[in-house]
Amino acid sequence: MLRDLSEKVSYLQGLSEGLNITEGNPQGKIISGILGVLNEMSEEISQLQEDMDEIREYLENIDDDLLDLEETIFEDNEFMEISCRNCGEKLFIESDIFADVEDSIEVICPCCNEVVFVNDNCFDCGHESPELNADTSRGYL
Ligand SMILES: [Zn+2]
Repeated sequence: MLRDLSEKVSYLQGLSEGLNITEGNPQGKIISGILGVLNEMSEEISQLQEDMDEIREYLENIDDDLLDLEETIFEDNEFMEISCRNCGEKLFIESDIFADVEDSIEVICPCCNEVVFVNDNCFDCGHESPELNADTSRGYL
């Protein structure tokens, strides 16, 4: 379609030369002027098209990279989905953050600042640790 445009302009320019439309008279001046402008416009559009293609390609690359990044993040970490009881906001929490902590963790809703989740486990009541110790000592025997 774009090639059509510049072809059409070239055709008209050739036609005007063939018909001896010169800049010698006022009508010829206008027609030559119009054809000149048309020619410039088709060149300009063609340049824009090239730029657009480059930008599109660049965007597609960014999009691919982003997808890879998302996949990597979601593969490496398991996420828990938690809904805020106060405002209903959905939060994704990395399961990893509970893996090797001894302190309890509070997750605060970014929307309403309410505590959404508290990881106070059984560390305090002493269920977890003795079992772990038992396992370790069994391992040594
Ligand atoms: Zn909330």
